[in-house]
Amino acid sequence: MRQDVSELIKKLNVEKVSKLLEIPEHRITGALQRKTLQYVRGKPGLFRFDKPVSSAEGGTSVFIEPFDIVRGFPKISRTLVLYPALVKHFSSCKKVVVEEKMNGYNVRVALVGDKLVGLTRGGFVCPYTTEKANDIIGLDFFHDHPELVLCGEMVGPDSPYVPKSFYGIESLEFFAFDIREKATGKPLSVMMRRALMEEYGIKSVRLFGEFEVSEAHIEITKIIKELGSAMHEGVVIKDPEMLLPPVKYTSSQSNCADLRYAFEFYNDFGRDFFFPRVCREAFQSVEWDEDEVSLGKRCLQLGESILQPMVKTIKKKKAGERIAENVQIRVKSMNTAKEFEEHLKLLGVDAVFEAPEKIGNEYLVRIKRINQSTNDKTEAILGGQLWS
Ligand code: ATP
Ligand code: MG
Repeated sequence: MRQDVSELIKKLNVEKVSKLLEIPEHRITGALQRKTLQYVRGKPGLFRFDKPVSSAEGGTSVFIEPFDIVRGFPKISRTLVLYPALVKHFSSCKKVVVEEKMNGYNVRVALVGDKLVGLTRGGFVCPYTTEKANDIIGLDFFHDHPELVLCGEMVGPDSPYVPKSFYGIESLEFFAFDIREKATGKPLSVMMRRALMEEYGIKSVRLFGEFEVSEAHIEITKIIKELGSAMHEGVVIKDPEMLLPPVKYTSSQSNCADLRYAFEFYNDFGRDFFFPRVCREAFQSVEWDEDEVSLGKRCLQLGESILQPMVKTIKKKKAGERIAENVQIRVKSMNTAKEFEEHLKLLGVDAVFEAPEKIGNEYLVRIKRINQSTNDKTEAILGGQLWS
């Protein structure tokens, strides 16, 4: 379906967008032509940056009626070794703040007109996230601070994107890790943000403390070992004033869990998924000065995380089963489930929605996400097709 660019230009107030984002007009129309800036049908209608354009992050959303801009969430760089990376990166800070990196999906919640919307990383309004945001966060904070966007992780078993059950969460919870200005993306300081969240009764990610930059690597090593043994993902290390960009660092256990997941659907995940994760294990092992036994354990865990899920997948296919991922959502209104089904179609996700189950005043809807590429590839190879 080709969208007429001149129609899109009419729909979007290019001049206003250009001024607010400080991007020349011709770059915006160019982005529309290249579809880096795309129109997303739906309620509310919006444009989203599929990739970064100048200083506008990928995932930046431009709403049309009423006009509003919510900047995308910036990428967070990763370090593979704590020392001397932290000393180098945070050279202009005396201290750093360490917060837990939770493993869920990234959400920005903002007031657009008089409605609260839940945006996912790509800059889409997700109907499910929007219902949950209204439920969990509500309007109080935004009545007082309509120009701010709450950035946080949606975590729990009822997550259609990254379901996790080890946090002890019943359904889905929101944990704030950033408050930014909607249009500029400028962040509040860590402590100001945490105090505001406390004031409004909104959960924040766990705070481990503020450490001298020169000693942070020692503290973080201890924290990561603890987090890893509980299967938690890792930490994000931040400049207390949020002037420097944060840095993330993760546990081996969570790394291996990612691999186990990805290799179950090995042909649906890019090969790019694999290589950096092996590198992380190697650098961590050297930084921790592991002996033969510890390294042996790490090797075994890494190998098992790759081969076991893949073998399981091949056996499943051999037995005639379909390779799919089971996820679930819990909604107050079946209309939200319907809208979410449409939303997944828009994203090009192949999903089968099962009949809802009523639990209290909510509906639990199980969803099978079909990993078509892994299905096809496995079937073909088992049927005798050559690898290349
Ligand atoms: P990125 O594009 O930022 O590298 P990614 O999709 O590869 O992200 P991750 O490796 O999960 O994602 O790391 C960054 C993400 O971590 C953030 O986008 C955010 O959703 C999540 N996150 C969880 N906890 C925190 C936290 N305390 N501070 C900042 N981000 C956090
Ligand atoms: Mg994540």
